[in-house]
Amino acid sequence: MEKIVSLCKRRGFIYPGSEIYGGLTGTWDYGPLGTLLKNNLKNLWWKEMVQLRSDIVGVDAAIMMNPKAWEASGHVEAFTDPLVECKVCHQRFRADKEDEIKKHGKIHGDKEDWTNPQKFNLLVKAYLGIIEEKQQELYLRGEITNGAQVNFKNIVDSTRVKIPFGIAQIGKAFRNEITPGNFTFRSREFEQMEVQFYVKPEAKEADKWFEYWKKNRMDFYLALGIKKENLRFREHEDNERAHYAKKAVDIEYNAPFGWSEFMGIHNRGDFDLRRHQEYSGVDLSYKDKLANESFIPWDIETSAGVDRSILFLLVDAYTQDGERTVLKLNPKLAPYKVAVFPLLANKEELVSQARKIYEDLRQDMMVAWDERGNIGKRYFAQDEAGTPFCITVDFQTLEDKTVTVRDRDSAKQERVNIEDLQKNILEKID
Ligand code: ATP
Repeated sequence: MEKIVSLCKRRGFIYPGSEIYGGLTGTWDYGPLGTLLKNNLKNLWWKEMVQLRSDIVGVDAAIMMNPKAWEASGHVEAFTDPLVECKVCHQRFRADKEDEIKKHGKIHGDKEDWTNPQKFNLLVKAYLGIIEEKQQELYLRGEITNGAQVNFKNIVDSTRVKIPFGIAQIGKAFRNEITPGNFTFRSREFEQMEVQFYVKPEAKEADKWFEYWKKNRMDFYLALGIKKENLRFREHEDNERAHYAKKAVDIEYNAPFGWSEFMGIHNRGDFDLRRHQEYSGVDLSYKDKLANESFIPWDIETSAGVDRSILFLLVDAYTQDGERTVLKLNPKLAPYKVAVFPLLANKEELVSQARKIYEDLRQDMMVAWDERGNIGKRYFAQDEAGTPFCITVDFQTLEDKTVTVRDRDSAKQERVNIEDLQKNILEKID
């Protein structure tokens, strides 16, 4: 993990939040490469979930919601983790994290002493309004799900969706995590990507779609290149399921700190819509005109953490190949698709030819430019950044209009005609 954290900082993937002020626990800032990587992941997810499907539509709901929505969804009452406090140094830990508690206890030796577990609400409070005494207390959303649920009726009324259909959303969520840690794995501000998929309220139908989404999501991460042996399903025990879930399965990654959840598939039943109907007084039933029936659908949810997905994609791609550190990211995810170098920075003909290639290619993709130091060092830097291809303009280019294209993973080089470059690279990264 230390190597990943240091690479992320060194290359501009992820920095500690507000670092120059000593940071803010549980927050992270994505740098130039991290932002590109994160956007690529979100765009691929959106393409697969919304663009290529006719049964899912997207929303982008507000982060601040009427606080009643959080009462309805049960978060005010039940969004709690039991917590124990070390009586010696007052550090708090989740009561279910036995290993962390044991490790911490050892620091105090004979003096080790803990409080009984207490409930602790994870919702982050905010205050809205300009006059202090009249400010409205509300919550930053603790999960993005509610933004979809409260728009169920709007979407049914304003689009042509028919059950079964889904609502997709990507956005920020905030939690007062007791013990943020493991880099971005557990943060206080993070992003989620979710589909709430509404189906007829029948166990058989719900089970069918539950199995469908389990496979669909596992296939998504395998197609992105995560190694099969590092992924697994884990079904929740009866006593660990969230308050809303009839059934819950996580997809876990074999992280350096142990198998860890980075997404979940949940059968939420009709819990959310029924509760929002009850608390808002608005009829949220779905009318099936053809079958002449009306019902509150069940919701099969897929909920993934963007940050945890990014973290595990980075961990999985990190490869030490002799002296080289290579991020073997899927080209579709790689921040830069290609880097262009003139062999020598002080040869005008090489620089201007390379510059032209750089300008042409960047019309279609993110392209890096580097003319510093020797070629070997430039390759090393791009390997660490996960750039799949490097193009070098050398003296032969001036004679025969070909360049070298070097492959990140094999380090092999081929010569390609400049006029075929665009097609050649586009084919390789698709
Ligand atoms: P955990 O048990 O690890 O606290 P959770 O079961 O509470 O997670 P969900 O409420 O199911 O998580 O949220 C869905 C997804 O959102 C998680 O699978 C994870 O990827 C992401 N997520 C949740 N909490 C955090 C967090 N504090 N930091 C980063 N990502 C998070």
